[in-house]
Amino acid sequence: MTTTDIPRTVRHLIGENWVDASDGSTFESLDPHDGSLLATVARGTAEDGSAAIDAARVAFDDGPWPQMSPKERAAILHSVADAVDDHRDELALLETRDGGKTITQSLHAEIPRVAHNLRFFADYVSMAANEAYPDGDLLSYVLYPPAGVVSAISPWNAPLMLATWKVAPALAFGNTVVLKPAPQTPLTAHRFAEIALEAGLPAGVLNVVHGFGGDEVAGPLTADPRVDRITFTGSSATGVHILRAAAANHTPVSAEMGGKSANIIFEDADLDVAVPMSIRAIFGGNGQVCLSGSRLLVQNSIREEFLARFAEEAGKLVVGDPKDPDTFMGPLIEQRHLEKVAGYVELAQEEGGKVITGGERLTGPAHAGGFYYPPTVITGLTNDSQTAREEIFGPVETVLGFDTEDEALRIANDSPYGLAGILFTDNLNRAHRLAARWKAGTVWINTFFERDLRLPFGGEGISGLGREGGQYSREFFTEPRAVTIRL
Ligand code: NAD
Repeated sequence: MTTTDIPRTVRHLIGENWVDASDGSTFESLDPHDGSLLATVARGTAEDGSAAIDAARVAFDDGPWPQMSPKERAAILHSVADAVDDHRDELALLETRDGGKTITQSLHAEIPRVAHNLRFFADYVSMAANEAYPDGDLLSYVLYPPAGVVSAISPWNAPLMLATWKVAPALAFGNTVVLKPAPQTPLTAHRFAEIALEAGLPAGVLNVVHGFGGDEVAGPLTADPRVDRITFTGSSATGVHILRAAAANHTPVSAEMGGKSANIIFEDADLDVAVPMSIRAIFGGNGQVCLSGSRLLVQNSIREEFLARFAEEAGKLVVGDPKDPDTFMGPLIEQRHLEKVAGYVELAQEEGGKVITGGERLTGPAHAGGFYYPPTVITGLTNDSQTAREEIFGPVETVLGFDTEDEALRIANDSPYGLAGILFTDNLNRAHRLAARWKAGTVWINTFFERDLRLPFGGEGISGLGREGGQYSREFFTEPRAVTIRL
């Protein structure tokens, strides 16, 4: 695919129509590699948000989608997944141009996962076990009718993968959807909607609107009483706004939010595994990953050895054009975010931290015009520093030391966030002990970023509200109904 294949104008999809913003407003989507203009995008108004809800409402109340059998819906969702596979190269390049994600990751991880999300939930609906309780002359069972109209609000850091983590279960369980992708990365959601319609998804079942929150397009998506579910992935601060808006109508919200996860390295860990995994856990995706192990806790007895290896590996990572298959880290998403990340590194030094690698924006010929920041490792901070407590969402690792297992766990749990925990040890008793006491929605032992879609996904504390995945998605996207009959 060449640059000429990028959709230069992105409109909303409302019902079967591709439309501009009601007041004609637009915003620009830029390539973070060089700041060039990729597309002009409809800047949705509250009126546009309402119109999309109208369309989703009609498709739910009058359309065939909720009435279809799970198998009929699954057949269509499989066709959409097949079409995603057919367009994999195109979607991967769009993702890489729009968000700066490396082409290796887009092509081999995220776009394949988009198709997997669709297939998994398409099949899950038919295969999930159901409850039935015979009790004397009473028989009780559970129905799972779709909830209705779902607002899906997604972030920029894994755009289509996270959008379809919401859209796929919502559709599979028979709901209709209004998707609002992040304004930084509108392109793959737009192309996905085109592909889905071509693959047979009925019009109105998936609506896509673009723009911002507050009084703009996302306003009605969170505050309109005709919305039955809100599924949100984004920052904990935005989550508060969404929860407030939803409360007025008692609309259930599933919120997957920020993280500041601890990655604990014990002295008995296999460093040949722990070092590369820990590099991936903070610098993969440029640290713009909610699950990043952004607080690295290293047992003091191996601290020197581990840090020497970790910093050396970090310094060798290739940072550059995300379209190059050899690149490990592309640019950060936008100038404002680059300033935020650089600001945290300055703050860390004011707080007494020492930058042992990285720490200066990259501006050489390979990075000119782009929003590039190197892998950065900071020591000398304590867990109560602002740098160690707040989500930076960039390639910045804060290294803390510890002596005992209890101390490590206390530091790990001493955070307002509770999304993930990562741990490297050869002592399995210790691993299970910690997993049981860790304040985290997900714990990875001697690995990172593995996802089985049957498992609950979400966070504790300000990292999340509710869980999605497998049966947890069914709980959220349906209205479980108890039925009892006297025989
Ligand atoms: P963000 O909160 O700024 O935006 C997320 C989405 O919410 C965007 O579509 C945005 O336009 C929309 N939005 C903003 N204000 C709104 C409002 N008032 N009402 C309705 N919608 C509104 O987050 P971001 O910068 O796009 O993404 C990064 C954040 O997402 C990080 O905090 C990261 O940890 C988190 N994240 C969490 C997970 C997870 O699964 N827990 C996954 C990915 C990202």
